[in-house]
Amino acid sequence: VEAVRFESRILGSSRETGEVRTIKLEVPPGFHFTPGQWVMLNFEDDPKTSRAYSIASSPLETGAIEVTLSRVGDFSERLFRLGTGGTIVVRGPYGKWIWRDDVTKAALVSGGSGVGPFRSMIRYALGKKLPVALSLFYALDHTGEVIYEKELAEFEKAGVKVRILKTAPTADSLAAELPDAADTDFFLCGPTKLVAELTEGLAAQGVPRAKIHFEKWGDYQL
Ligand SMILES: Cc1cc2nc3c(=O)[nH]c(=O)nc-3n(C[C@H](O)[C@H](O)[C@H](O)COP(=O)(O)OP(=O)(O)OC[C@H]3O[C@@H](n4cnc5c(N)ncnc54)[C@H](O)[C@@H]3O)c2cc1C
Repeated sequence: VEAVRFESRILGSSRETGEVRTIKLEVPPGFHFTPGQWVMLNFEDDPKTSRAYSIASSPLETGAIEVTLSRVGDFSERLFRLGTGGTIVVRGPYGKWIWRDDVTKAALVSGGSGVGPFRSMIRYALGKKLPVALSLFYALDHTGEVIYEKELAEFEKAGVKVRILKTAPTADSLAAELPDAADTDFFLCGPTKLVAELTEGLAAQGVPRAKIHFEKWGDYQL
């Protein structure tokens, strides 16, 4: 799908935790994406400053997308404060780190707001009733607050294995929870160092590299 550029209106903004919000952005008819993809946002008065945000809603929901953001610096602070009715320039979708409908066992591993794209993948897989065994390993950030708390409980009721972790996962801890790790597709997302360590650790455990799919968000600690 070709990336497009448009001005979007904020249709809603909701609190996830003290430092995390989910905002709903209007998209034009025909805007398509695959779970895992992201959009580039910039404020109209500052076209040179843009930041990437993963889409956290399902492509089965049309007319709007949602992104979940942590308040960590100038841009995210401004986005955090942008209320309903505000506008922002959107470009996208971008990214090759994407969900695949033919995956049968998936382990989704993230920390902090890195859980956003997994909400998109899980909502989509459940909505489409895909025959896939889903496990979500979600490490809390330093605040210890849970993003999507209610929805994660619903995912669990729908058959998703949900593990909320107080510390960052290791390849060993993941393998211990997944008897058939070598036959599982891993989707990793979050701080660069965590993603790099997990990738190497999983490969050392015998997970084929072709089954390790990752997206690095930058240099930060959870
Ligand atoms: C492909 C991609 C997708 C991304 N999707 C999301 C998303 O869905 N939600 C989101 O909140 N961020 C996401 N990010 C990070 C986002 O693009 C910005 O880097 C982030 O919002 C910080 O920008 P800033 O100007 O507020 O702070 P800056 O001054 O640019 O950064 C401040 C510090 O925060 C760190 N940081 C960046 N992202 C995070 C984070 N999520 N949690 C904690 N610390 C962080 C930076 O590495 C830096 O050390 C994504 C990044 C990439 C590359």
